Amino acid sequence: MTDLAAGPTVETRELTSAVRTALGTVTDPEYPDISIVDLGLVEQVNVTPDGHATVGLIPTFSSCPALAMIATDVSSAVEVVPGITDTSVIWLSTPVWSVDRTSLTARRQLESSYTVVLRRKDGTLRCPVCGSDQVGDQSMAGPTRCRSVAWCETCRNVVEVMR
Ligand SMILES: [Zn+2]
Repeated sequence: MTDLAAGPTVETRELTSAVRTALGTVTDPEYPDISIVDLGLVEQVNVTPDGHATVGLIPTFSSCPALAMIATDVSSAVEVVPGITDTSVIWLSTPVWSVDRTSLTARRQLESSYTVVLRRKDGTLRCPVCGSDQVGDQSMAGPTRCRSVAWCETCRNVVEVMR
């Protein structure tokens, strides 16, 4: 008897989970040891029974050229998953990326490896170098449009703020 009920089959569920695992190996070129999963870019993963994968990503820094590289890397990583025949990468305009989407692992790596500080929900900043709250925005013009530069009054380091 054939079960015609709609919904993902065991096969597509397994494929979807294999695709998610593959996405965990894709990193942001600007932060080569943090996966796009930890950065909160991956919003949707759909796999059809015949192996077409669609990956919906949320751009973190919408004007950064890194996005094109990420899309290419996602296709390369997903296409080698056994059972996947074809991959589409789409950039979603909603939901909007926010710091809350990053994992604790990503936040710790951004702070410790890149001296990047993530703005908290209440708008406050914490210095990634010394932990001080005495961080003020120095300039809204950072290295890229998605980041700005701030100044820690306690340890006198310049830190990058990811918005
Ligand atoms: Zn500091």
